[in-house]
Amino acid sequence: MSAFRCDLHIHSCLSPCGDEEMTPGNIAGVAKLNGLDIAALTDHNTTGNCASFFAACETYGVIPVAGMELTTSEDVHLLCFFPTLMDATAFSAAVDDRRIKIKNKPEIFGRQLLIDLDDEPCGEEEFLLINATTLSLEEAARLCRAHGGAAIPAHIDREANGMLSVLGGVPEEPDFSAVEVHDPGRISDLAREHPVLRKKRTIVSSDAHRLWEIAEPGFPLNLSCESGAGAQQVRDALIDYLSGQGRGGII
Ligand SMILES: [Zn+2]
Ligand SMILES: [Zn+2]
Repeated sequence: MSAFRCDLHIHSCLSPCGDEEMTPGNIAGVAKLNGLDIAALTDHNTTGNCASFFAACETYGVIPVAGMELTTSEDVHLLCFFPTLMDATAFSAAVDDRRIKIKNKPEIFGRQLLIDLDDEPCGEEEFLLINATTLSLEEAARLCRAHGGAAIPAHIDREANGMLSVLGGVPEEPDFSAVEVHDPGRISDLAREHPVLRKKRTIVSSDAHRLWEIAEPGFPLNLSCESGAGAQQVRDALIDYLSGQGRGGII
């Protein structure tokens, strides 16, 4: 077992709500300054900036994770994490087929900037990324698993797009092994209100949309890999942890 400081929910400038300073290079640099070992990029309904994020994290010495914050047809936000960039890219292509393509209005929603390997803007996503896809929560979780990933409901303590407020509780299916909570102060209340959460693992992340929101010093996770393990081994251990291998609740 080794301990890692994590922030597993960060948006880049590709998310319309993400600050334009949230380039992959800036995120990786701040993650390093903040003492993070692992950082996940989780833009809305796309992994379009993940390749540049991997390159930037390699420069700064942070372990990158390719992820996505998917909006389900019920309007629940679901975090999806992948062991490799290739798995994430294939998942993103599958999600793209299930997006409802409404043209983005940058003046209202914000720009959706694609960033190249030199950390420079190289294009803009034309269609809005934050609206619901046609994937139900069950379908989305299944699709994520089929690409080798782990899916966990995002910020379950939030009114907007949180599983508890949207669905009115914790569904039996999909049987998520882990959940994300935004405010760690709510964890014991949530466990009292929804005892089934006691069986699930809980992570806390920043949901950063601005550089100063990136977690410091990050949420500690004990993953089953040796100290000095390579980035791929650490990502594999993280996916195992979030998808329930060696499962056990912590709240
Ligand atoms: Zn969200
Ligand atoms: Zn988010």
